[in-house]
Amino acid sequence: MATLTVLKYPHPLLKQRAHPVTRFDAELGRLAEDMLQTMYLEGGIGLAAIQVGQLRRLVVMDLRDAPGAPVAEEEDGEEVDRELRRNPRVFVNPVITASSGETVSEEGCLSVSEYTAEVRRAAKVALSYQTPAGEARQEEFEGLGAICIQHEIDHLNGLLFIDRLPPLKRQMVRKRLAKLARSA
Ligand SMILES: [Zn+2]
Repeated sequence: MATLTVLKYPHPLLKQRAHPVTRFDAELGRLAEDMLQTMYLEGGIGLAAIQVGQLRRLVVMDLRDAPGAPVAEEEDGEEVDRELRRNPRVFVNPVITASSGETVSEEGCLSVSEYTAEVRRAAKVALSYQTPAGEARQEEFEGLGAICIQHEIDHLNGLLFIDRLPPLKRQMVRKRLAKLARSA
């Protein structure tokens, strides 16, 4: 496994549309593994391939370490091995086939440093996707899972969560982030 570099806003690749995955081979599995490792290392709960410079419709996710996630495994104050708690998920060519409800929550992104904002999204989504082996699957998500999936699919379409903010706020944020990028 290797750790990959996460591209930061305003990297031009983050505005590109990713291409459908057509080859379900060992290399795809390795990329997903590397993305998971990178996501764990950076402390994220989701990562799209485009964020590591790969224009492929591939997303990884693990909600186990999300802030506010239930920690039922931790009994008697005993720390359970992080590795054991993990629940890595891989979605290839994910498509939202239905969505309902509305929810507003604070979002951040590994590609957008030092900024979080409230974003409005569907509360519930139905997803069709493929496994790294190419098998077709369907699954429903709500809560954080639904929010994360929508955020990651946005990445595959060249959108960041800041692009979903109201116009005035979006302008302000872009200016601030551009300034930050220049001073980095
Ligand atoms: Zn993101």
